[in-house]
Amino acid sequence: MLDEKVGHALCVSVTLDKFPEVLALAEQHENFYASVGVHPDYEKITEPTVEELVRLADHQKVVAIGETGLDYFRLTGDLEWQRERFRIHIRAAIATQKPLIIHTRNAPEDTLRIMAEEGAHKVGGVMHCFTENLEMALAAINMGFYISFSGIVTFKNALQVKEVAKNIPLDNILVETDSPYLAPVPFRGKTNQPAYVKHVAQEVAALRGITFEALAEATTSNFFKLFKHAKATQNEICN
Ligand SMILES: [Zn+2]
Repeated sequence: MLDEKVGHALCVSVTLDKFPEVLALAEQHENFYASVGVHPDYEKITEPTVEELVRLADHQKVVAIGETGLDYFRLTGDLEWQRERFRIHIRAAIATQKPLIIHTRNAPEDTLRIMAEEGAHKVGGVMHCFTENLEMALAAINMGFYISFSGIVTFKNALQVKEVAKNIPLDNILVETDSPYLAPVPFRGKTNQPAYVKHVAQEVAALRGITFEALAEATTSNFFKLFKHAKATQNEICN
């Protein structure tokens, strides 16, 4: 990360069992932050309660609630438990006034509906590793959300994602790696790591016809605007 001038990283929680490890990383490194949440792809595990999430989020290095959301691609059948878990996270985010990290796959209508019903605009957040269409991106932006691009935006066939990256306001863009998955070109298929976010930023800058520096400056500033509990230190350039 240092070599590539990636100044900060947000380590995202996917289960409560793993949360202590995520938090330990954030405690050990000044420029690492953590989130707390249970990912929608984990079925048949203990459901978090609002109270538990609020309690775990009460730490200065925990800057977001998630990742949470809906995934109708990986899981099928009766997914009411996913929707209920999503609602619990939104309530915890509102209670703690910390933004949401939302995962959404093949479920645009339900995701936007639950966000609206639960008042997600009160805290905002990020639609992470975004792969849906421009219409959904704009609907989320209207609720105070940012759109985050992962290595997918560098894939040749990811035309819809490239279209979104080209057309949404710069003030709503974030970049991420989603490590260890989805490594950007030229590392596609390898284990991903935060340092590679530079390649995601380069692609988004190229799509928009702006310099890498301008894009990096914007995404860094967007990061600290959204994750307001994260403290900027000197020399951060990217992400
Ligand atoms: Zn995700």
